Amino acid sequence: MTQKTVVLYPSLGVGHLNPMVELAKVFLRRCLAVVIAVVDSPDKDAVSADAVARLAAANPDIAFRFLPVVPPCGAGHHDSLPVIRITEVLRLANPALRDFLRALPAVDALVLDMFCTDALDVAAELAVPAYFFFASPLGDLAIMLHLPFYYPTAASSFKDMPETVLRFPGVPPIRALDMVTSVQDRDSDTSRARQRQCARMLEARGILVNSFDWLEARALEALRCGLCTPGHSMPPLHCIGPLVHFIGNMGGRHACLEWLDAQPERSVVFLSFGSLGVFSAAQLREIARGLENAGHRFLWVVRNPPEHQNDHSIEPDLESLLPEGFMERTRESGFVAKNWAPQIEVLRCKAIGAFVTHCGWNSALEGIVSGVPMICWPLYAEQRMNKVHMVEEMRIGVVVQGYEDELVRAEEVEAKVRLVMESDEGSKLRERLVMAKEIGEEALKESGSSDVAFDEFLRDLENNRT
Ligand code: UDP
Repeated sequence: MTQKTVVLYPSLGVGHLNPMVELAKVFLRRCLAVVIAVVDSPDKDAVSADAVARLAAANPDIAFRFLPVVPPCGAGHHDSLPVIRITEVLRLANPALRDFLRALPAVDALVLDMFCTDALDVAAELAVPAYFFFASPLGDLAIMLHLPFYYPTAASSFKDMPETVLRFPGVPPIRALDMVTSVQDRDSDTSRARQRQCARMLEARGILVNSFDWLEARALEALRCGLCTPGHSMPPLHCIGPLVHFIGNMGGRHACLEWLDAQPERSVVFLSFGSLGVFSAAQLREIARGLENAGHRFLWVVRNPPEHQNDHSIEPDLESLLPEGFMERTRESGFVAKNWAPQIEVLRCKAIGAFVTHCGWNSALEGIVSGVPMICWPLYAEQRMNKVHMVEEMRIGVVVQGYEDELVRAEEVEAKVRLVMESDEGSKLRERLVMAKEIGEEALKESGSSDVAFDEFLRDLENNRT
């Protein structure tokens, strides 16, 4: 039998590329050949050649190929909103994708990022079976696939009814203000583009999702029954997660890991807010006061506030940013990491007792596979929706009240830290996380739900072979 070849096609941004690399590893384990086609564009969100080279060096069995894209020439392109800009770049990448696929001896499947819906046209033209890889919660998929059916008849834009509770099949009730930022204004170009993309996802032969059946059983059921896509047939769903992106010890062991090794088991609160999360100076001071008053050990990733620097490579001046004497008073009990910490490794340390997270889906999955209870503090993109699933449905975290306001008070930070670290509710949460971790591990093992789901996908590939 000849080896099958799968082409993975991520959207712009390393946050879209990393999950595809994890998916590629699953294909490799099943002895398929994998090529990741990376859009090579001058766009500010495009992944740099250096970053791709690093990933390629760490994953020699995965072929990375660049698709050159002519720079968009429209006036104001660089200033347009990310969804619009990225959609335009991906549309312009279609000819390069077509040439690239044509030049390959065989392509058994094209696996698309959720933003790459225009590539469906190329797949159809070349008769290549197209699938999506959805690297967010299944609950988000349930909402986003329902949106093109729901939004046109809604009373108004979500932004105009922030406190209205919306009901979507398979997910908990959600306040309009918790819907993903890109669709807040129904009549915006961004919202229209997202709805078009979501509607087109139904054209795929199947959708792979980085989640697992147990974690999101209700959303899975609602999607499979067609409740989210009335009158339309739903492509087969394959929950193949939890896949997390382990980068390894590039550039030596981070000092925070040495520090964690010396801390008692489950004694440290870890605060980390994704690749982009930043807080105002006032908010940083509130967090510091809250942590100090809670009295638990902490490891906190701190970045410069947006009003100081937008450049994440510039290190924050902790003495001037944080309350006077804070660094000195917490010298023994706290570790402040400037800009970045090796999150996956941190979460795996026995010393970690709670994880304050911005609810990016990679972070949430990393918390789950480490069995760490979460304190949810959503910041941007789809994180407020993720927070709803994590708190109300998966029951793997508690929410920080006031995340939607200008400032979360120190008292709230202290209260949530104490709740998770000290209370019975916190112990129950920890038990739930231990269970979620174990079930997630089982799902990936031979004959586990995610393993079986991947087999089903491979069978579909086999049947589709042209
Ligand atoms: N991350 C990290 N150290 C940091 C901040 C982030 O290793 O200090 C990693 C984290 O482990 C995760 C990714 O960056 O894999 C962030 O992805 P996520 O989906 O959680 O959030 P995003 O950055 O896309 O908002």
